[in-house]
Amino acid sequence: MVNIVHKFGGSSLSSAERYQAVANIILAHTEAGDCVVVSAAGKTTNTLVKLWQSYQQSDQQAVSDILLQLDNHQRTLIEQLLSPTARYAALNMLEQELALIAQQAQQQSLQEAALLAHGEVWSARLLATYLQQLGLAANDVDARQLFTLNDGQLLHQKNQQACAQLISANSINVVTGFIAADCQANTVTLGRNGSDYSATLLGSYCNAQQVSIWTDTQGVFSTDPRKVKKAIKYSKVCRGQANLLARLGNPVLHAKTLSPLKNTDIKLVVRSSYETEASATEIVKEGYSKAKRFITTLENIDLLRIDQLRGGEIGELSQLIQHSLHHFIENGDTYLLVPASATHQVVSHLQGRANIIESNLHGCAVVAPSNDVAQLFEQATQVLTEQSLTPRFSHQDADYILLLTDQSIDSDVLTLLHDKLINKGQELAIIVAGLGNVGEVFIEQLSQQLNRLQHHFSVKLVGLLRSRAMLFSPSGIALEQWQSQWQNEAIDYQQDDLLTRISELDYEHKVVIDITASEAFSELYPAFVNLDCHLISANKYAGTANNDWYQSLRRNLAERNLLWRYNTSVGAGLPINFALADLQNSGDSITHIEGVFSGTLSWLCSSYDGSVPFSDLVLQAQQMGYTEPDPREDLSGRDMQRKLLILARELGLTLELDDIALTPLMPEQLAQGDWQSFLDNKQLLDDFIAEKAADAAKDNKVLRYTGALTIAEGKVTAKVGLAYATQGDALANLTPGDNIFVINSQWYSDNALVIQGPGAGKEVTAAGVHSDLYWLIQNLK
Ligand code: ASP
Ligand code: MG
Repeated sequence: MVNIVHKFGGSSLSSAERYQAVANIILAHTEAGDCVVVSAAGKTTNTLVKLWQSYQQSDQQAVSDILLQLDNHQRTLIEQLLSPTARYAALNMLEQELALIAQQAQQQSLQEAALLAHGEVWSARLLATYLQQLGLAANDVDARQLFTLNDGQLLHQKNQQACAQLISANSINVVTGFIAADCQANTVTLGRNGSDYSATLLGSYCNAQQVSIWTDTQGVFSTDPRKVKKAIKYSKVCRGQANLLARLGNPVLHAKTLSPLKNTDIKLVVRSSYETEASATEIVKEGYSKAKRFITTLENIDLLRIDQLRGGEIGELSQLIQHSLHHFIENGDTYLLVPASATHQVVSHLQGRANIIESNLHGCAVVAPSNDVAQLFEQATQVLTEQSLTPRFSHQDADYILLLTDQSIDSDVLTLLHDKLINKGQELAIIVAGLGNVGEVFIEQLSQQLNRLQHHFSVKLVGLLRSRAMLFSPSGIALEQWQSQWQNEAIDYQQDDLLTRISELDYEHKVVIDITASEAFSELYPAFVNLDCHLISANKYAGTANNDWYQSLRRNLAERNLLWRYNTSVGAGLPINFALADLQNSGDSITHIEGVFSGTLSWLCSSYDGSVPFSDLVLQAQQMGYTEPDPREDLSGRDMQRKLLILARELGLTLELDDIALTPLMPEQLAQGDWQSFLDNKQLLDDFIAEKAADAAKDNKVLRYTGALTIAEGKVTAKVGLAYATQGDALANLTPGDNIFVINSQWYSDNALVIQGPGAGKEVTAAGVHSDLYWLIQNLK
């Protein structure tokens, strides 16, 4: 049984490496019985079209040049991919086919469709042979055996039978896209870029569950992501909008692709063959996703007014010009958008019923929910007019607008349009992980924050996670009742369940807010990024993971235009990360950061005056909940070491944790053993501290536990440990529990910039997370 029909386009097969990548995808994603539809490799169809044109112009020289070019291209692929035996047979076959083309060209008996078909035939044959070579059961299938058309109409019953007969259940079927046959067994093509259509046709004839279109973009975006940095990848797009986009010339999906899926439940997925881990766009049945906003640009088109358009004529015309067409009615007249290069053909086909109203125009179409159309029409017209691109012709329809201009819309103008038209009305889904003290306060504060955030964006809390339990409500969790809902509805989850739930969210933006202290949870960040989630973390693990992992996470975020904030991982709500970023962005360079970045150690050192043994203070702090469950976690200094690493990386340094020298705030022996053995030996700690404090007092100094980072002449030194602070200095005057960051830079060289205040506590930390969230939203706008 066919479960999935995969389709790979020309760009996915443009080189031997791409074939190998495709084979890897097939290895990972197919089972025997599945189908793989392929296009011609790279630009082969274009080359074949050129060959046909040269043949028609009787340009013999060009014909043989192009044949040579095709020969070279195929030969290279075959030689790079196939083992000697398979290679010999493949080259032989290629040689015969090319010789036949040359002969037919000479004898004036070349057929256009049969000529173009070679591209797909070569791809299918090569891929199937290559898969066999990898040990897979695979065979190539010529779609002319599967799809028959009579007078341009598909013979569904016959085709279905042919598929049942020829699609093998025991191997992977590599099927040619783009081509079919007529009743006389002549080749016909399904239109340029028709392989997507081949794939959905095959899916419907074989009752597949899914059709996966593997392409060179990651899915369907709000606009061309190569032109607009903030283009949004949608996880779900409904069929109606996808269809409309295709008719309007958006290249991601082609107009006929969706038609075979009508009245079926077949799932259609668009995903990247380059970045196979990235999340995809699913094209869903009407009503299974909300309507989205899109802008698609139009280039070199003519506007025709058609008199007495007949039913089916658009289909005929688009078959004729091998291109999708869009028509609409304005003031009772029927208009047609035609690629300028095809106007001549269309006009002569319509024999006097086509009037060219405008020629060689550019512009854009905005597809949107019906309720938004009128407003978007005004806004778009205004933006274009301000950019001296006043539309020559515009049309407002039920679910899109069309604006045709003299000049084309470049990426700057498209970005402006995108900023103005697409961002409004977007939704951000929040998933909060960690429902401890800080998490609870964060959610409490969220209800007040929402009023403020709502002006920019519609923000919804959709997921809550704690340890191994999760609560997901894609339409939003009611903030007033989240606790009872959690009690009643949270379920245990496995990692895959969580990722599936996130991938199913139908939101323009998603953010995972990690308020856990779990290293295991931080290891999921790359998976969240693949699902297009922004990240906010109070958790320190990801920011202090080894550099390779950390850098690759950063790269993936950047590639997907995703943001990551972790302001509260150092100094809780204190704006230390902002300050560092701001200084550097304004051209300053930081030379030294020193301070106390642990509320616990700050409290212990500042409270200590020798009147009470240090270990008593430790126990007191433990009781007040100021410390980790085992306070030695704090005394070890590791937490401060992590924070200093985060600050260092914020400055662009590539340190590892171990590059930061660490001396704990306790004697070595106490670090070992269980908590009871610590208690038994606490005298050691008291003596250790008393001795250090006495040492400091000799110079009129006090004991502090600090982190320090120095950059001098390109050399970086970083350490965390005991320090003696001069009485009267900011460090010495520290209020017990406060954090302090003393920053020296080029501009703050003599007098340091000091940031000081509570560096822990649920309110300030939760507020710091809100500050990250607010920043995120500002940057998404
Ligand atoms: N190879 C054909 C073309 O370039 C079909 C396809 O790529 O889908 O138009
Ligand atoms: Mg193609």
